Amino acid sequence: LQDRLGNAFQKFKGQKQLTEDNVKEGLREVRLALLEADVNFKVVKQFVDQVKERALGEEVMKGLDPSQQIVKVVNDELVELLGGEQQGVDVKARPLKLMMVGLQGSGKTTSSGKLALYLRKNHGKKPYLVPADVYRPAAIDQLTTLARQLDVPVYPSTTDMNPVDICKDALVKAEEQGCDLVLFDTAGRLHIDEKLMDELENIKKECSPQEILFVADAMTGQDAVTVAEAFNEKLDISGVVLTKMDGDARGGAALSIKSVTGKSVKFVGVGEKLSELELFHPDRIASRILGMGDMMTLIEKAQSEIDEDEAKAMAEKMAKAEFDFEDFRSHMRKIKKLGSMEGLLKMIPGMGNIMKQMGQDALPEDEMKRTEAIISSMTMKERRQPKLINQSRKERIAKGSGVKVADVNALIKNFNQMSKVMQAMMGGGKSKKQKGLMNKLKGLA
Ligand code: GDP
Ligand code: MG
Repeated sequence: LQDRLGNAFQKFKGQKQLTEDNVKEGLREVRLALLEADVNFKVVKQFVDQVKERALGEEVMKGLDPSQQIVKVVNDELVELLGGEQQGVDVKARPLKLMMVGLQGSGKTTSSGKLALYLRKNHGKKPYLVPADVYRPAAIDQLTTLARQLDVPVYPSTTDMNPVDICKDALVKAEEQGCDLVLFDTAGRLHIDEKLMDELENIKKECSPQEILFVADAMTGQDAVTVAEAFNEKLDISGVVLTKMDGDARGGAALSIKSVTGKSVKFVGVGEKLSELELFHPDRIASRILGMGDMMTLIEKAQSEIDEDEAKAMAEKMAKAEFDFEDFRSHMRKIKKLGSMEGLLKMIPGMGNIMKQMGQDALPEDEMKRTEAIISSMTMKERRQPKLINQSRKERIAKGSGVKVADVNALIKNFNQMSKVMQAMMGGGKSKKQKGLMNKLKGLA
């Protein structure tokens, strides 16, 4: 998806205006990309129509080129589609009753444990776990083990008990133990079936949970949407937990579920560990889907602080691989105004990870000073043509700026890496090597 969208956006490079034609052209690619990502076709159509309307109805913002403008519109619409503002669960109720539903293997049991931990840690809740999947002995054991790990009480379910009775009785037991959060981990099936649905409906009727969370495996894409629809029809779910987003899920499910069921994704599972649960942030997921990092923030910030023309010149230079140490230094000085180097670099997609790899996340400001010193010790010619910098020049530069030769080497290496990324980001990079690097970065981002 990211590749496709990347291609779609490339088409707008160098064009001055959003016209019916270039918008149409670009959106055709967007449509294909979304369909490829397993997004429901109805959602795709709606989405594309909205973007088209907005893109055409809007003037290209000052300081943005059409490609950036389209990124902004697509990004905004994506956030909107994903549910606008991020929302968790209302934790005020005592007891707060959460019912986990979904297909087998979607992550209900794991998510029950994760939510217990999350709500205890962030909202001081006292959780009580209820294994209501009596069809597989292993399911009871699994939740019981998690409960032990978390040091949380668990209802002593056995396979001969009725799930509805379990849940009802669990409410009594939870209160006796002073717990104010009850999590019902219900049974799943490989497919939706009536008997299971009736059972879930009965639990709902008898226990009146404030939240019925549909747990969906992000990897199942479009299927998750069909299943979500069925559960929603029967149970009127209150929200969604999208699991396994740490895998290479293409985001299709997240995109479609809200739009088809009207229910928001509330939490995202990002790993097998109990701590690996996050609040769902539509804006973050949108960026992830678009593979643009927080490019929008960067664009907006840069727009207000850096002179428009200069920004444009910079972008052009980056795209043409003419970006050199002289530009780097002047750019660095300019972005000092924008806040910390770290904050800025992190906004460039993939840069956060590069920085981590380089071990530069510790002292970015110091690093920046040192970097400036090294560049200042270069001759103008060296700054303009970094390739000239051989061993003896490196030694001279190191001496001049009071650093080790290794530091000079590191800077040059980072600079090369960065300009490759920039080139690829700005649409100039077309070589195989750069594409490979881009893909690697996308994997990291
Ligand atoms: P259930 O049948 O719906 O209760 O699903 P489980 O909670 O047993 O989870 C099924 C499998 O998915 C288990 O192996 C979990 O460890 C795994 N799993 C659940 N959530 C996540 C997640 O967010 N990321 C990853 N990588 N694995 C997950
Ligand atoms: Mg389970």
